[in-house]
Amino acid sequence: MIFSKIRGNFQDLKDGKIDVKQGLITKSDAIELFNIKNWKDYLELFSIASEVRDVFKTEIEITSTVHVTNICSVTPKCKYCGFAAGTSSEGYVKPFRSDDGQIKSSSVAIENSGIKRVSCSSGHGYNGKEVIRALKAVKSVSNLEVLVNAGADLTEECILELKKYNIDTICCNLETTNKTVFNNVKPGENLEDRINVCKMVKKHGVELSSGLLIGIGETYEDRVEHLFFLKELDVEEIPIMGFNPYKETPMETCPKCSAIEQAKTIAIVRLLFPDIRITSPTPTMGPELAQFALLGGASNIATVIPDNHPMNIKGVGNPKTGNLKDVICMIKELGLTPKLN
Ligand code: SF4
Repeated sequence: MIFSKIRGNFQDLKDGKIDVKQGLITKSDAIELFNIKNWKDYLELFSIASEVRDVFKTEIEITSTVHVTNICSVTPKCKYCGFAAGTSSEGYVKPFRSDDGQIKSSSVAIENSGIKRVSCSSGHGYNGKEVIRALKAVKSVSNLEVLVNAGADLTEECILELKKYNIDTICCNLETTNKTVFNNVKPGENLEDRINVCKMVKKHGVELSSGLLIGIGETYEDRVEHLFFLKELDVEEIPIMGFNPYKETPMETCPKCSAIEQAKTIAIVRLLFPDIRITSPTPTMGPELAQFALLGGASNIATVIPDNHPMNIKGVGNPKTGNLKDVICMIKELGLTPKLN
């Protein structure tokens, strides 16, 4: 029943009878879809979500990564974090700060591989200066589109500086808008700080990416409220990250978020936001399972590393990243087209 209603709305969208910002489903539809349990419903959901994606996105974007620094001032550390120095033997463990030369050589290698976009992320404690440095380094040697992610560690001046140097996207993930869950998994951070950064990014007309970390104790209702909050913010990109336990972190015994749960969430996001970039980072899905994300209607596969990348990149959420050749192969196997130079 719900699928025939969604298909009707999809046809109305294609006929120009409803605005794309309205999306194809309501809050209660989203809750109903989160609760589906059988394979027929999953296949129907993925089928509609993929068709919607294909109307608005003719190619699948691929985003690579440069990690700027894992030295993070947030204390205590986020309970799931395996990225910051000292958090997990599966992550980087040791503190590092990539110098400008390393960032430039990585950018050249990424661009030479055909990838058109790179994400540069840093820990907190720099007022965004580390990602400004990274942006300048990448843009000085390449035409790559750049997303920077320094979480809540951005000031208004810093956003203006990023804009001056032609930033393409600023990412600030809220992870969850359930304050109790947020405070539990991110005891060293404040949800309002992240919301304020998102609002400042939009205020200055920069493309905003803001994602969900799923499987950290939030309910389906929380996810739906979060997604409608992102609708109000008018985000241009939503990354969906599944929780993946890192060894030696406070959440090491918590269950991993399954690929099917991530794909279902991606599909619901696609029905709510038909025309935006929906991102699945390979480490959180599991690089070999990226096709689940594409079946769910994702339009961007992130943390993709070409063979010639000079840095040893570990994924955030799971140390394993996606190899460019494998990702291209997975995209093509589904009859989709990778966006490459
Ligand atoms: S998740 Fe980000 S903000 Fe939290 S401790 Fe790790 S690096 Fe710092």
